[in-house]
Amino acid sequence: MASPPIGFPRWAGQPASGVARDMTRPTMSRIIPLQPGLPALLGGAALFAEPCVVNRPVAPERGAFLASIDSILSSRRFTNDGPIVRRFEQQVAERCGVEHVVACANGTLALELLARVHELRGEVIVPAFTFVATAHAFRGNGLTPVFCDVELDSMNMDPASCSAAMSERTSAICAVHLWGRAAPVQALTRIAGEFSARLYFDAAHAFGCSHNGRPIGGFGTAEVFSFHATKILHTMEGGGIATNDEALARELRLVRNFGFSNYDQVDRLGTNAKMHEMSAACGLAVLAGLDDHIELARQAQQRYRDRIEGMDGLRLIDFDPSEQSNFQYVVAEVDENRFGLGRDALTLALRAEGILARRYFHPGVHRMEPYCSESQPRVALPNTEALARRVLLLPGGGAIRGDEVELVVDAIERIHEHRQAVAAHVGAG
Ligand SMILES: *Cc1c(COP(=O)(O)O)cnc(C)c1O
Repeated sequence: MASPPIGFPRWAGQPASGVARDMTRPTMSRIIPLQPGLPALLGGAALFAEPCVVNRPVAPERGAFLASIDSILSSRRFTNDGPIVRRFEQQVAERCGVEHVVACANGTLALELLARVHELRGEVIVPAFTFVATAHAFRGNGLTPVFCDVELDSMNMDPASCSAAMSERTSAICAVHLWGRAAPVQALTRIAGEFSARLYFDAAHAFGCSHNGRPIGGFGTAEVFSFHATKILHTMEGGGIATNDEALARELRLVRNFGFSNYDQVDRLGTNAKMHEMSAACGLAVLAGLDDHIELARQAQQRYRDRIEGMDGLRLIDFDPSEQSNFQYVVAEVDENRFGLGRDALTLALRAEGILARRYFHPGVHRMEPYCSESQPRVALPNTEALARRVLLLPGGGAIRGDEVELVVDAIERIHEHRQAVAAHVGAG
């Protein structure tokens, strides 16, 4: 989603045989002999020859996708609310049990369309522990994101913190169903009602998930999906807004297309946020295999869980067995004291193995620009701070193979075995 954080060496391919470059001192280009059994950071052979990323995109079903491409090329209907986009919207709406889905060029623009259609002003409450787009989408439309804290266990918005962050200037709350686990929908609905604020959900992580047995997509005023390549359902780039509000859906379609209500009639200020036909064709061909991808992602989670469960200082977040989950995100928490190695040192050591585990959402959106320069957080964010220090995403999702999961855990085990030397090495670097 974003480039590696500053201060972390970028992955540089390991030579396949004989020698490994010491990635911790890239400027010196030291060539050191391999030492089997040692973590790659300490001179062992990297376990992955090709970088293993956190969310490898699932492939659209090839036959269906190629057939669609062929028909798009023949018809030369490439965009502008085409028939494949319509079909994709309809199938997504059915899967979510909502009346309307408006497909967009990406999830960030989908959030922006909501801000534009509702002509939001003033402040919007967002969790500090989220992907930066949740805040940027509103800030880019003249709103001030006000960050609230999350709960330590669920990592989702804390209703008490949300309440404390509200003011007479609040026009909306945008909660996130983080990792596909539903935000506290009922509590937030109550708070939004008290303040007559809009309630949106950033459901970028949550396609295919449920809350109280109902699919994510139908809660609040509207829910926004991202169909970026890293998400469980993707259109390479894409997004969509799910809502049961017909008037809202109509306005969203206008704003998505420059405000055009007719051939040469523009009814309002709009932008270009249209999804094109190739994207929708990809989406349909991924959607056809969605249940298989979810099952593979579930198996990967289970495999991690089976091996990590006994490890002191490392735990994976749980998914409620009574709800539907997409199992896309393998989220680990590193307890530095018990694991004997901090999250950042573990991340560096995994990178040396070719495993591009990621620190999400380090350091918290409130510590990113422009927010950190503009104002101090209105409410305290201790849980966000704590989570931003210890959460680590491991490679998972619908496109990871079982043997790769085993290798990732092998890497964690040998890094843990040599934790003192790794810590010393990272500390000295
Ligand atoms: C991916 C993501 C987005 C942004 O979606 P894009 O389609 O990449 O613009 C927003 N919020 C969250 C929580 C995300 O994970």
